[in-house]
Amino acid sequence: MSKQEKDTSMDKIISLCKRRGFVFPSSEIYDGLAAVYDYGPYGVELANNIKKEWWKAMTQLRDDIVGLDAAIFMSPRIWEASGHVKGFSDPLTECKKCHSRLRLDTLLEEAGVFADEKMTEAEINKIFNDNLNKVKCPVCGGHEFTPGKKFNLLVQSNLGNFTSDWSKEPTYLRGETCQGIYVNFKNVLDSARVKIPFGIAQIGKAFRNEITARQFIFRTREFEQMEMQYFVQPEEEMTYYNQWREWRWNFYLNLGFKEENLKWHKHENLVFYAKEAYDIEYKFPFGFKELEGIHARGDYDLSVHSQASGQDLNYLDPVTNQKFIPHVVETSAGVGRTFLAALTEFYREEKIETETRIVLAFPAKLAPIKIAVFPLLKNKPELVAKAREIFDVLKLTWRCEFDDNGNIGKRYRRQDEIGTPFCVTVDFESLENDEVTVRDRDTMKQERIKISELENFFRLKF
Ligand code: ATP
Repeated sequence: MSKQEKDTSMDKIISLCKRRGFVFPSSEIYDGLAAVYDYGPYGVELANNIKKEWWKAMTQLRDDIVGLDAAIFMSPRIWEASGHVKGFSDPLTECKKCHSRLRLDTLLEEAGVFADEKMTEAEINKIFNDNLNKVKCPVCGGHEFTPGKKFNLLVQSNLGNFTSDWSKEPTYLRGETCQGIYVNFKNVLDSARVKIPFGIAQIGKAFRNEITARQFIFRTREFEQMEMQYFVQPEEEMTYYNQWREWRWNFYLNLGFKEENLKWHKHENLVFYAKEAYDIEYKFPFGFKELEGIHARGDYDLSVHSQASGQDLNYLDPVTNQKFIPHVVETSAGVGRTFLAALTEFYREEKIETETRIVLAFPAKLAPIKIAVFPLLKNKPELVAKAREIFDVLKLTWRCEFDDNGNIGKRYRRQDEIGTPFCVTVDFESLENDEVTVRDRDTMKQERIKISELENFFRLKF
């Protein structure tokens, strides 16, 4: 695929998101806020469906994982202990011509030079200097840059601080959700009748002062994570790690993603405590990029929190009486990235005679609206009343939409664009024989179904 085509399809997705109310730029009437987005009426449904599927796979379908919803604000000591205050940073450089701030590791990677955010300032600057001739500013094409500097990604707040200089003792908006899991490890252990191996799952917002604000919802400064920490015996870490890699891969296949659009990426440059780290990458319109990280983290996280808090975070095995700090296998996914992957995966354009039909061919579990109900005409009260009756029954089980606006063809197209699997139309015949037309999004075939049979019909479909 040429660069032009890739960019176009991203443009098409962005435009559909705006046009049909999936995603809006934040604060748009005030010219927006970089790298922050709002989810509109259909976007919130899709995001909720993604979260529901993750929560079901990670908690409901397992007897070894419990849920948690920790607060966004946490003691600043947590971020000191975890190493985020010192080390949670990306390398930053500035173009001397247009003053755009750029992520140096990405800039180098785009020029075909290996670099990553875990390198020290000296390491990455050496690579930068050796390859300056290959690098150009993606905004203005400039070739001169300031030296790379580490830029901390934690977002500070003044919560609970009433002095004028709060920046000296900031509370942070969490940079990742998993710290809330580590610091509640003992609470969960003492209250939830869990035994190792067990996991804690959490979905929630995280905040990062990301340097570059490109690629739509792929990289935002406020985003949602779906994270799970699985606590295991030290010697079983890699066995569970490999299982988790398989389980998480299958999660995306179960969402309906094609296997050829997924890829493993092994981290070569590991942080000192990590045993192994892989990302699942998805083939976004701008190339394969990280969707989820799966990491074998050893006992690092619980050990540092045990030391810094002075609390014993050892686990006492009830059978062997062995006492140890559990090792952790982490799975960490983003709601926004899964959302963008789903839009990419299921976006279709079909030529129908002279027209182009745009369809989001979502599986029903992801579709924001499952069934749309239409009266053929808006100004015929009998049709509207019958359609309302049907809507009032179906809405009790499925997320439905009632629409009486415009001609039927246009209503179908609108539902195709938001990915609604079925439309039900009440016409004049329906008033006589109690049958309605059910139209299938993918085949566009229409069939007549008895109103009394509709619920059964959809039960078999969903
Ligand atoms: P990247 O290398 O792309 O910056 P990361 O390795 O820093 O990502 P993690 O810290 O492992 O990401 O976070 C876990 C998951 O959270 C990622 O796989 C991604 O889905 C999501 N995520 C991380 N940062 C962002 C962001 N700025 N915007 C949207 N999602 C994000």
